[in-house]
Amino acid sequence: MKQDFYEVLGVPRDCSEADIKKAYRKLAMECHPDRNNGDKGAEERFKLVTEAYEVLRDPDKRAAYDRYGHQGQRTDFSSMHFDLSEALMVFMRDFGIGTASGFESLFGGGQRRERRRGHDIKVGLKLTLAEVASGTTKTVRIKSLESCPDCAGTGSKAGTQPVQCGTCGGSGEVRRQAQSLFGQFLTVSPCPTCAGEGTVVQNPCERCGGDGRVRGEKTIQIDVPAGVADHHYLTLRGQGVPGPRNGPRGDLIAVLDIKEDPRFERHGDDLVYDLAITVTQAALGAEITVPTPFGQSRLRIEPGTQTGMAYRLRNKGLPRLGEGGHGDLHVRVHVWTPTKLTAEQRKLLEKLSEIEDAPPEKETGKFWDTIRRALGQL
Ligand SMILES: [Zn+2]
Ligand SMILES: [Zn+2]
Repeated sequence: MKQDFYEVLGVPRDCSEADIKKAYRKLAMECHPDRNNGDKGAEERFKLVTEAYEVLRDPDKRAAYDRYGHQGQRTDFSSMHFDLSEALMVFMRDFGIGTASGFESLFGGGQRRERRRGHDIKVGLKLTLAEVASGTTKTVRIKSLESCPDCAGTGSKAGTQPVQCGTCGGSGEVRRQAQSLFGQFLTVSPCPTCAGEGTVVQNPCERCGGDGRVRGEKTIQIDVPAGVADHHYLTLRGQGVPGPRNGPRGDLIAVLDIKEDPRFERHGDDLVYDLAITVTQAALGAEITVPTPFGQSRLRIEPGTQTGMAYRLRNKGLPRLGEGGHGDLHVRVHVWTPTKLTAEQRKLLEKLSEIEDAPPEKETGKFWDTIRRALGQL
């Protein structure tokens, strides 16, 4: 079980964005790898506080976290498992502090060559409320760049090999002396000639021009868990565009677009359905069929039901994402007064009007108060 992000940063749940930034900066400085001589515990802590910060500093992600916690994150922020270089990148981005270990882990300290990652692909996924209720698998067709089949993504013409880069001697990086917050150090940055790859293509493949990628199309299946909300996104790691010359792939990000169902009003996991009943059903009670996202359901209308009363069908709302269980379906009742009467109906109603009681004034006042309160809670 992951530690609560607010606890990680040591801030209260209602703290401001500025508090979050301040708390993170302080903690990140304390457990920054540059200050802890390769202490693995500090490094883990640095990654964790950065993860927490990355979620809580963003108002949308914070709202989703407040609502769904870590479980929801599995689908919401699945990219939120930082390795050290990603964590250092966040720290550098927000505080503009370049650090020795930052450059070393980013660019490999002379051992690893930087390989450029491909772009992320963003797709919109249209869902119906029924699909949200049950969860679904969507198939999307994506046009993007794919690995070149002629050179197997290497960018070099068949039978040729890329050659060592003359600028960096194959290390993929250039070094220079620089000043940081923690003192003087050697910066290591990617070689401008080979963009960090360490090699250059001398005989480019004709099909892809040496890039290693060509235009292509692919079909991807996306599993959508039940209970997702509009504008949520799902991240499929490594399903985006490949990097040039077999570089790592970007991610596929599916943004959810849930079609409104005119039958229901959505309040989080709860749904509201407006049901019209006749005057006699209201007075005598009735057994009625109402729609739910899972099909029809039976509802018993009690004798003496008033307009505005709400019946609750437990667990007939939407699934709770990451928590298990379902929300409720609230059936809001409206008593329908007939607008056209046949001669027979008129006769019966006139007869009823001679013997019916007037509504009790005091009680109806109280009654409407109750209804208003109940609806306010929806
Ligand atoms: Zn180079
Ligand atoms: Zn090629």
